[in-house]
Amino acid sequence: MRFDTRLLHEAQPPDPLTGAVNPPVYLSSTFRQKAPNVHSGYVYSRSGNPTRAVLEATLGAIESGRAGLAFSSGLGALTTLLEAFPSGSRFVAADDLYGGTYRLFEHHRRQFGLKVDYVDTTDLDRVRAALDERADLVYLESPTNPLLKITDLNAVARLAKSAGATVVVDNTFATPALQRPIELGADIVLHSTTKYLGGHSDIIGGALVLARAKDAERFAWLQNAVGAVPSPFDCFLVLRGIHTLGVRMRAHGESARAVAETLDGHSQVRRVYYPGLADHPQHRLARRQMSGYGGMVSVELAGGKKAVLRFLRALRIFTLAESLGGVESLVDHPATMTHASVPRAEREKLGVTEGLVRLSCGIEDPADLADDVRRALARL
Ligand SMILES: *Cc1c(COP(=O)(O)O)cnc(C)c1O
Repeated sequence: MRFDTRLLHEAQPPDPLTGAVNPPVYLSSTFRQKAPNVHSGYVYSRSGNPTRAVLEATLGAIESGRAGLAFSSGLGALTTLLEAFPSGSRFVAADDLYGGTYRLFEHHRRQFGLKVDYVDTTDLDRVRAALDERADLVYLESPTNPLLKITDLNAVARLAKSAGATVVVDNTFATPALQRPIELGADIVLHSTTKYLGGHSDIIGGALVLARAKDAERFAWLQNAVGAVPSPFDCFLVLRGIHTLGVRMRAHGESARAVAETLDGHSQVRRVYYPGLADHPQHRLARRQMSGYGGMVSVELAGGKKAVLRFLRALRIFTLAESLGGVESLVDHPATMTHASVPRAEREKLGVTEGLVRLSCGIEDPADLADDVRRALARL
């Protein structure tokens, strides 16, 4: 089966009891046992829930993993991941990460003796140098948030493997519709299902997808032990979102292209970050590694923060809000919103300046989104 078909049919047979084409939402915290420890396979909904089980099987299948696990948020998934690494573990992490990921890594560094080195993973020589020293885990995002840098996942996975490190890829921005890191050599995929997988800005959720049997077992144990699990209804909504992931990602991609082309070359624009533009530093890699460029565009306005505030006020369709990946277009000012937890000096060094704006291009008519951006630029 091809990918769009798998989104609907793989791991989701009709309900065996009734034939319902959607899994029932099992709003039950607990399950009757015939005798102590004689049960249906479900005992307590933190440990397992039938609605969640359908979502988890689907997540595992569409990311080409051995098993999927659902969590209460992307950071809930990350917290559970971190529980597997004892104090003194060393991570090599990409230097442009979701702000909350950076915040949690830094918290574990200060509180629990985690060692983290942040490197520009678009530069394989730097990755190689960072792996000269023993590392337990390599943590990647591609495309990154918010600068949309692309890492060669297969090349980094090969370097990490020969260094004996586990490779984790946060695939929130690309989604399995555009890129499947496990097929490229990653061991674990992480998602904020809040974003494109849910797709409708109506839930908070996360996921881990495991490629190796030993990880599948270990993280299922940790999922229950830590307890950051989603409600059955939220599992149902993520599953419903997954059904339309293919068509939505194509629509998001068309919108992003229209917006990026409108911004590109405009006199008020210093730089456009979008992997689909020919002058993006990793454009060729993106073309090879992904089957589309995604729905995110970042732009640095020439007039700095003053221009940003004017631009944000002038937009009519893009809503100023944190988050991304929903059907409606959103705009974010990373320096003061999503990435405020990254120290200013770090941010500026990476390019997350006061003039940077991040656009999550929704599935509205691309021409309306391009008009909205054009009109706002004209106010600067
Ligand atoms: C939002 C986000 C997260 C965190 O997920 P939550 O669901 O908000 O906890 C992690 N990684 C990326 C790339 C994100 O965009």
